[in-house]
Amino acid sequence: MSIPFELVLSSRNRKKSREISELLAPWKIAVRSVADFPEVGEIDEDGDSFLANAGKKAALPARQLGCWVIGEDSGLIVDALGGAPGVWSARYSGPLATDESNNAKLLAELRDIPPEQRTAAYTCTVVLADPTGSIRASATGLCRGIIVEQARGTNGFGYDPYFLVREYGRTFGELSTRVKHQISHRARAFTQFIPQLVRLRDQSADGSFGS
Ligand code: IMP
Repeated sequence: MSIPFELVLSSRNRKKSREISELLAPWKIAVRSVADFPEVGEIDEDGDSFLANAGKKAALPARQLGCWVIGEDSGLIVDALGGAPGVWSARYSGPLATDESNNAKLLAELRDIPPEQRTAAYTCTVVLADPTGSIRASATGLCRGIIVEQARGTNGFGYDPYFLVREYGRTFGELSTRVKHQISHRARAFTQFIPQLVRLRDQSADGSFGS
């Protein structure tokens, strides 16, 4: 029987954190949000890649708290916008951005782009930092889709009501959590990440990672 244990997740996005907890739950890996540790301040996501941001989000709190931390950075890449919003996905419409304002900006930027050119991909990079801040595991997942003009569905978060997965003919806003957990960028990244995590856990003497 595997030993349950807990890792810190460096994300303050509640909906994203819930998705990650659900992806890890079958492996008896629980996550505690960095929001529970007031000593960890806001982390500047100023890296020029998803990997740089995920690494920073994991390494800083790991060193500060002396524990193992998962860092995750994700976003939307729109081909017709040269890859934007990319690493700026959360703050696309400015420092006070909300999902609504980001979606409004996305639609405005794509106003003159015909449906066949509205191709996009969600990407997710996840890393694990040990208590010294060294990165010990990492993975990236991608999910392709197109950006539709009208919001569809209320599931998920962020750009989900506008992100249509062609194979399903539905947006992430319409697809169930069960399906999103099978095909999303985050699910695909965690499918590669979890075996690395389990290997590290099994290598540690007490099954709880230790340091
Ligand atoms: P991060 O917290 O800097 O990684 O922000 C990622 C941003 O990308 C989110 O705030 C969303 O705008 C967008 N994003 C990432 N993953 C998803 C998803 O699964 N659904 C919808 N939007 C997402």
